[in-house]
Amino acid sequence: MADVLLKEVRKSFGSLEVIQGINLEIEAGEFCVFVGPSGCGKSTLLRMIAGLEEVSSGKIEIAGKDVTYEEPSKRGIAMVFQSYALYPHLTVGENIGFGLSLARTPKAEIKARVEEVAKVLQLEALLERKPKALSGGQRQRVAIGRAIIRDPHVFLFDEPLSNLDAALRAQMRIELTDLHEKLGNTMIYVTHDQVEAMTMADRIVVLNGGRIEQVGTPMDLYDHPATPFVAGFIGSPK
Ligand code: ADP
Ligand code: MG
Repeated sequence: MADVLLKEVRKSFGSLEVIQGINLEIEAGEFCVFVGPSGCGKSTLLRMIAGLEEVSSGKIEIAGKDVTYEEPSKRGIAMVFQSYALYPHLTVGENIGFGLSLARTPKAEIKARVEEVAKVLQLEALLERKPKALSGGQRQRVAIGRAIIRDPHVFLFDEPLSNLDAALRAQMRIELTDLHEKLGNTMIYVTHDQVEAMTMADRIVVLNGGRIEQVGTPMDLYDHPATPFVAGFIGSPK
């Protein structure tokens, strides 16, 4: 059974149809990357899976449940964005634990969970710091920590590394792949960066103009691109 199932999903903004009938099955535990040029609909598709954008038509299932019209907090997902909006007046630990304190989780339990998450992300030494005293990579790790602590069924990432410099991006690619191995969750990762897609994905979904061009492993796409678009997009590093 697919862990995330998209059935004939469409989205229009006014008269512009930006997602044009997407059918896709993502397996449990899969690291699935949506890749494609800017404006092809990656964020819109991810936001519909998250419930931040309503579908115009079609169906979305997560873990076997129809969530097409379910609110975001009830979908079992957590999303990490490109701009890591941390609370500047809270410490790293408070930022990571924020979602749990909203849910009125007991303080001792929050503390234990924050420490657990900080360990996974190597943030143990930084828990008392404020965001402004962190590097870009550390801030992005805190943002990821805020998602992990909610123990989501599915992680959604929207270009989480695009604000980082090249060296840090390379390091974070490895860290995120390790994290996926540790947690074993289903991850859907959006990027316009072919290198990220090719190095991180179990399976890549190539999007172009609101449609799927091809779905396959990095090797499939590299060896057997289905269309000239895929060949050009995957074959030519930026
Ligand atoms: P990507 O993330 O691949 O760069 P997006 O999903 O952000 O692409 O956008 C896909 C298309 O939908 C673009 O043409 C964009 O201008 C349009 N779009 C996205 N959000 C909105 C919106 N809220 N209102 C109108 N058009 C939108
Ligand atoms: Mg986008």
